[in-house]
Amino acid sequence: MRTVYVNGDYLPETEAKISIFDRAFLMADGVYEVTSVLGGKLIDFAGHLTRLERSLNELDMKKPAAFDDLLEIHRELVRVNEIEDGLVYLQVTRGSDGDRDFVFPDPETTEPTLVLFTQSKPGLANSPQAGKGLKIISIDDLRWGRRDIKTVQLLYPSMGKMMAKKAGCDDAWMIEDGHVTEGTSNNAYIVKGNKIITRQLSNDILHGITRAAVLRFAREAQMEVEERPFTIDEAKAADEGFITSASAFVMPVVEIDGQTLGDGAPGPVARRLREIYLDESLKTAV
Ligand code: PLP
Repeated sequence: MRTVYVNGDYLPETEAKISIFDRAFLMADGVYEVTSVLGGKLIDFAGHLTRLERSLNELDMKKPAAFDDLLEIHRELVRVNEIEDGLVYLQVTRGSDGDRDFVFPDPETTEPTLVLFTQSKPGLANSPQAGKGLKIISIDDLRWGRRDIKTVQLLYPSMGKMMAKKAGCDDAWMIEDGHVTEGTSNNAYIVKGNKIITRQLSNDILHGITRAAVLRFAREAQMEVEERPFTIDEAKAADEGFITSASAFVMPVVEIDGQTLGDGAPGPVARRLREIYLDESLKTAV
């Protein structure tokens, strides 16, 4: 039985309760972060908290606790749940003023809801999938226009994962105006020649914390990075593909819509970046 955190209390998961009037339940009015844990330590924690603050600011939501308090809650949950490898999920919602209304409740009188829980994933960094690579499909991007805010509106990404599963694949890349935006829960990259190509930051994609770190490490390793939109046809003709996210780190892509990339095995750039990311991010884990 896990211990979870709800609004100041550490509780057994079966005793944790949220109001049916909570705006995240009624309106998806909430934001979240997922931080991975390796060897009992939090990866890229400062980046995740910086993005959380940005999401809260963009939605005029109150910050539920100070950075140090949030770090302490993360660490306490990792400790009591004995998480060696896994994730900490954090969600902040606009809370509830006890009824349903489209208008935001008064932040002076309505406190945000803060929930955190852990997920144990033994061997997270040694996933066999990294050795095989992902098969993906392309689907239309039918999400809203503020994908830079990490909200809990995840129905379309869930539908995308189901479409991939039905097609016998692992995930989907989403297409808008002929160009790839991102994966259902990750940022998307292709490699052509010696160039790593990924869409530039804007409201169209989530500003991945892993993306920022991986691009920094790539540039430090003298790899060439081009931040621009790419088409799905360009992706299918690429030498390699990969995705990044907090829980998958760097994961190779070996097939797009049934078209094999390169020789069908994870490519050297993706494999190298995965290694560098895991090595470097462990050095700054807290
Ligand atoms: N893009 C989307 C749509 C996501 O949901 C995620 C992660 O959940 C990412 C990108 C990757 O972001 P990060 O590296 O911060 O996990």
